[in-house]
Amino acid sequence: MTSRKEEIKENLAQVEARIDAALAQSGRTRDEITLIAVTKFFPASDAMYLYDLGLRHFGENRDSEGAQKSAELPADIRWHFQGQIQSRKIPSILGWAQTIHSLDSRDHAEKSSRFLSAGNLEREFFIQVNLEPDRSDRGGVAKSEIRGFYESIRNLPAIKVVGLMCVLPIGVDPRGAFADVANLARELELPSLSLGMSGDFEAAILAGATHIRVGSSILGSRPEPA
Ligand SMILES: *Cc1c(COP(=O)(O)O)cnc(C)c1O
Repeated sequence: MTSRKEEIKENLAQVEARIDAALAQSGRTRDEITLIAVTKFFPASDAMYLYDLGLRHFGENRDSEGAQKSAELPADIRWHFQGQIQSRKIPSILGWAQTIHSLDSRDHAEKSSRFLSAGNLEREFFIQVNLEPDRSDRGGVAKSEIRGFYESIRNLPAIKVVGLMCVLPIGVDPRGAFADVANLARELELPSLSLGMSGDFEAAILAGATHIRVGSSILGSRPEPA
């Protein structure tokens, strides 16, 4: 029987092989890609195995879970928050996460800026693009509103907007959708792109992703949330 650690090691090797294949196809190099292991709903022990295997970027969707895991795990990990932001959770999220991938509200940006400025902190933010304009419950700013949104928050103190992020709607062609988001980022001169997940990170790398957020390909199918 293989241990959980062996299983994770194998899965990670397969993900790295898929990354390498996409890099070869796109003429890019491994140092251009940050692999974020999405550990949501998995125990801290799994994240620790990944730490032992060399990973230093971890992603969480919920404040309480991220706060708890980040407190248990080594301090040289960079934590990424990619869940929907709730206003009252902002101070807590910004306490443990160094990069926020899901900024989509001016109120949240202003509240974050006030909180960070007061504590002499700075954080990186991605603006989330909503690729389903008729589904505002999905989170993200509609493509047509990205520029205005970016202009309205880009000069807020302590907020460093680095790029755009998206989650592909089911059934959408990844190449076209990722290319749209990449073009938007280029127009705004934003250097980073947080694009791929387990099912589509090769297409994301081909489209220019700098950050890929991979959960189930590394850790297996997710347990029910606690
Ligand atoms: C859960 C999640 C991921 C990881 O998804 P997998 O398909 O398991 O790789 C990436 N990004 C976001 C925003 C998520 O919620």
